[in-house]
Amino acid sequence: MNNEKCWECNGTLQRALVTETYDKPVLGSIAITDIPMLRCCSCGDKVIGADGSAYIDDTIEREYKKQGLQRQYRTRTEIITE
Ligand SMILES: [Zn+2]
Repeated sequence: MNNEKCWECNGTLQRALVTETYDKPVLGSIAITDIPMLRCCSCGDKVIGADGSAYIDDTIEREYKKQGLQRQYRTRTEIITE
């Protein structure tokens, strides 16, 4: 995953841990911290890879369980293409 190039500007992508806020059905707004992703040094474009997607998925799953809610998405594939 190192030294990948940005699609937008051909800048260098570097690994970063980023906090993002997502709006989820039922759950509402959720801030997820330390998501592993690649960020462009030049334009700031962010790329979430498979590990980042899995991390987000797991965190959201935990949050649903914590609140005793039923999530509306069943498979990981649906989450990624959401
Ligand atoms: Zn870029």
